[in-house]
Amino acid sequence: MPLLVMKFGGTSVADPARIRNAAEKVAREVEGGFDVIVIVSAMAGKTNELVGWVSGISPLYDAREYDAVVSSGENVTAGLMALTLQEMDVPARSWQGWQVPLRTSSAHGAARILDIPRQAIDAKFAEGMRVAVVAGFQGISPEGRITTLGRGGSDTTAVAFAAAFDATRCDIYTDVDGVYTTDPRISRKARKLDRITYEEMLELASLGAKVLQTRSVELAMRYKVPLRVLSSFEQTDESSGTILCDEEEIMESRVVSGIAHSRDEAKMSLMQVADKPGIAAAIFGPLADAGVNVDMIVQNISEEGHTDMTFSCPVDQVARAEKAILAARERGSFRFGELVADTDVAKISVVGIGMRSHAGVAARMFEALAREGININVITTSEIKISVLIDRKYMELAVQTLHDAFELDKAS
Ligand code: ASP
Ligand code: MG
Repeated sequence: MPLLVMKFGGTSVADPARIRNAAEKVAREVEGGFDVIVIVSAMAGKTNELVGWVSGISPLYDAREYDAVVSSGENVTAGLMALTLQEMDVPARSWQGWQVPLRTSSAHGAARILDIPRQAIDAKFAEGMRVAVVAGFQGISPEGRITTLGRGGSDTTAVAFAAAFDATRCDIYTDVDGVYTTDPRISRKARKLDRITYEEMLELASLGAKVLQTRSVELAMRYKVPLRVLSSFEQTDESSGTILCDEEEIMESRVVSGIAHSRDEAKMSLMQVADKPGIAAAIFGPLADAGVNVDMIVQNISEEGHTDMTFSCPVDQVARAEKAILAARERGSFRFGELVADTDVAKISVVGIGMRSHAGVAARMFEALAREGININVITTSEIKISVLIDRKYMELAVQTLHDAFELDKAS
């Protein structure tokens, strides 16, 4: 029988009524002839609560016990979902990760999936079970301890099951009805996309479009799992939501598919650093050691053997970055004139697979910003993305302007 993976996020299973609503969607697919593997998250807010309890008791907790506790939210939902389906006369049972067993590495709190053997679940399907409800986010380590995959990890569980069981599709049910050209809260002209490539979604996801865990998209791309994002709060059918797929499956590709923004950025500049080999390593080594997530980096043209080095990082890491840089200077690793931090910047990015084959995207972007008098502080590019750092007060305006400039209100 063809098999579908359906994943329900925390808001979709927040209480028994919503679990019932989700179960009805599952039952409809079963009636349509699919065997289904349902992956569930913990009820909304549950994982946060569990994490809070763990760190309240033990700030420097044993990661194995952290996993034992925070994985439990999914167990509750899996059992409740199976019960709900049984009440609807759908043959279903629940599985915790270790029962499958979903084997992972021993990296507690951020484990990688190693293997999902099919035998146990396949045997039950052969006996007439129609739905396997699997607790997302969790697995078992080679040492036999319970592991978790990192926050948002049940998306990754779902995609991994879809790959392991050759699913027709992996449907991710959530509280939004798909992937949009930009954040609808910022631009009323934002449009839901019918399709988007894995690569574009990866850029949008890592830029803060929080629809899917990034790792799940990487996994879907590697195993070519057709992935669909859709709402559990609406009537849905074959054509609902947004499909993530390969470039070849998008008939008419757009030059630009989306505008992403990231509000909480900071820009730090080291003025007057020596322009000589090893200086970038001397600066960015200590920043990496301090756990600062450096994003954009710009080194100016040098004048008389000196240059300015600018980088961006999340605004809540500025203090840590300053401390690391000052400590390195103290140790004599490098010298500089001044350290200037600007904590009022935002990053805007234009993403589109079509940039590979179309020239002029950068020019169009910069012209549009210039028309609005928005100054660009830093620019970086990749094959399918152009990002700029601008003053935060212009963030909304910049998103709206670029959405218009690339005619994304006509996208679909
Ligand atoms: N419940 C876990 C979390 O909140 C995993 C998930 O929902 O994806 O991070
Ligand atoms: Mg999620």
